[in-house]
Amino acid sequence: MSATETSLPGHPEFKFRGGELFAEEVRLDELAREHGTPLFVYSKAAMLAALAAYQRGFAGRRARICYAMKANPALAVLQVFVQAGCGFDIVSGGELERVLAAGGQGRDIIFSGVGKTRAEMRRALEVGIGCFNVESEAELEVLSEVASAAGRVAPVSIRVNPDVDPKTHPYISTGLKGNKFGIAHGQALSAYRRAATLPGLKVVGIDCHIGSQITDEAPYLNAMDRVLDLVESVEVAGIALPHIDFGGGLGIDYNGDRPPAADALWAKLLARLDARGFGDRQFLIEPGRSLVGNAGVCLTEVLYLKPGEQKNFCVIDAAMNDLPRPAMYQAFHGVVPLARRDTPPRTYDLVGPVCESGDWIARDRALAVEPGDLLAVLSAGAYCMSMASNYNSRGRAAEVLVDGSRAFLIRERETPADQMRSERLVP
Ligand SMILES: *Cc1c(COP(=O)(O)O)cnc(C)c1O
Repeated sequence: MSATETSLPGHPEFKFRGGELFAEEVRLDELAREHGTPLFVYSKAAMLAALAAYQRGFAGRRARICYAMKANPALAVLQVFVQAGCGFDIVSGGELERVLAAGGQGRDIIFSGVGKTRAEMRRALEVGIGCFNVESEAELEVLSEVASAAGRVAPVSIRVNPDVDPKTHPYISTGLKGNKFGIAHGQALSAYRRAATLPGLKVVGIDCHIGSQITDEAPYLNAMDRVLDLVESVEVAGIALPHIDFGGGLGIDYNGDRPPAADALWAKLLARLDARGFGDRQFLIEPGRSLVGNAGVCLTEVLYLKPGEQKNFCVIDAAMNDLPRPAMYQAFHGVVPLARRDTPPRTYDLVGPVCESGDWIARDRALAVEPGDLLAVLSAGAYCMSMASNYNSRGRAAEVLVDGSRAFLIRERETPADQMRSERLVP
């Protein structure tokens, strides 16, 4: 490492060398020039490093890390995790087909979500899905019916709602009583009793997932205790639970956040599991954001500066259709210019071209920028491209995966023709 090398906060694989910003060994301004903007750039090494923290945490245990792919479902990203030996947590039939297309197998997949359709269940059974995480008693009945009709037995886990507060944004908390997710703690035992009698089902485990961008270990410990209490009462009732799935949700550093490291968190959680006599179970976890969030940035170009009486606006070519988190959750993304200017910084709101006042990407940032400058919007590896839309008929951005000194275009920029491909004029 040279003395002039500085990593971006929370992004160990993105560094300034001299005045240039690199992803691993690749210059970001060159990628922007070659592929245009907005452009998502992901670091394979950053994904593997994030995964390695979990792998260290579970060393010597029977554990499966199932990447929650809704965070970033690009085929080449899935391929990285297939090759690293991960399983996958999916929430739709579309995600199932993506895992298969990336080289994953049905048995490596667990299927979560409150609204699985019969067609999705049939397809998942056909490919030999590892487990259905069932979220309601009604779903148990339908799944048993679908499995029996197909001459199969569906492996099931019941997602229990432990009713703990993950202390995160209300839209991404999922384990509170008022949330739509999972079966209430108090009803879980009777749901297991019912599941055990249904001919199309085989109970294989229990799961929970309490929310996202969790930066505190207490909610995990509380949820774990609540789940283990249930494991005890379900097993006393004669129903074995070979695996325990603790979901995902670990946060990342967006703005000085200090989530526990995955290995440190799991050292604590496993100590609790050992203390309660569950240390030798098969564990599953479903991390999404923490595997990919800080492995990606979005490059964007400054189009116009619009000084104003109350606010200065910096209009960029990325918008809420590319980076929806600020509009959806008032979320924070760091923003870094690719080249440093010596002019004094000004405070800007960064806004996109979409015709909505909610189309902002960052607020009140001190930046020394001019039209034509490139910016990196940080922490853009999770829940950005996966939530991107064509609003305002904007084509979705291109994506590049960097591996050492090589850069691969993994998704082409969407053209107007791509957007119109499935539409028809009336005769
Ligand atoms: C979204 C989701 C995850 C992943 O959450 P992250 O916060 O991205 O880790 C895991 N499990 C389920 C069921 C989910 O819906």
